Amino acid sequence: MRNFLIIAAFCSFAACAGNKGSESSDNAAPAAGTTTLFLGNTTCATSGHATKPENFVEHEGQRAYFCCSKCVASANADPAAAVAKAYANPTAVGNTACPISGKDVNADDSMTWQGHTVALCCGRCKKSFASDRAGHTKTAIESK
Ligand SMILES: [Zn+2]
Ligand SMILES: [Zn+2]
Repeated sequence: MRNFLIIAAFCSFAACAGNKGSESSDNAAPAAGTTTLFLGNTTCATSGHATKPENFVEHEGQRAYFCCSKCVASANADPAAAVAKAYANPTAVGNTACPISGKDVNADDSMTWQGHTVALCCGRCKKSFASDRAGHTKTAIESK
């Protein structure tokens, strides 16, 4: 049993370290025409490899993604730091219509979720944004 665990840990590390080739670019850029919009970080903050959607840690509704279970295990020691590191440089979505009301956005009313800064129209929409941050971010991106 103990040997098996060591072998399993080694294999996941090896998979992680050996994934530098062409395979790692597959996750980074979703193919055109796909309906699923991945709103997480595509580069593992621990290893620099491409992330996989099933490997993540969560802190206050934000998920930081990693390349492998080994990176997830070490990030679990401090999920808040992992999320902060994954989204250290937020980018403005650039939407001109509020995803909640459809009205023109106000530069002062924006919210940032998983590195995406979404422009909103008013304080009320900022409160509504918190109820479905993934959904509203997606709407803002798709409205552009
Ligand atoms: Zn890894
Ligand atoms: Zn509003």
